[in-house]
Amino acid sequence: MPASRQTLALPRPLVNKILAHAQKTPDIEVCGLIGSSSSRVKDYYPIKNISNNPSSRFSMDAPQQIQAMKEMRGKQQTLFAIVHSHPTSVAVPSLLDIKENTYKDVFYIIISLNTKGVLEMRAYSPQKDDMVEIELLLENS
Ligand SMILES: [Zn+2]
Repeated sequence: MPASRQTLALPRPLVNKILAHAQKTPDIEVCGLIGSSSSRVKDYYPIKNISNNPSSRFSMDAPQQIQAMKEMRGKQQTLFAIVHSHPTSVAVPSLLDIKENTYKDVFYIIISLNTKGVLEMRAYSPQKDDMVEIELLLENS
């Protein structure tokens, strides 16, 4: 991955949307995709978590995922990041997160609700058998 991608800037309204999604069901992990058509235009696509153990795992609903990808294409967007929340643990990828992540060329974002009232959101760049944390910046658009 080029060095220029090691800082990730997200528009504040997008971050607020993701946080609101996570807080709507604080006891289960929420998940979604971010599509981007340029460095300045990004949309969040919430996806239903269909895991049998949604308090500590996530599994994206395939039809919704396909629908989101279709909407992205319609807006000339490409998949930019995958997002999920951790209701009770820190915003660090679990071993399962690393093992089960199939997207290697997009950012990986985790929101933690562990610290009540405080947004903890971290971004990672998936590598082979690992995820490297990258700096996350909030843009006021
Ligand atoms: Zn996780």
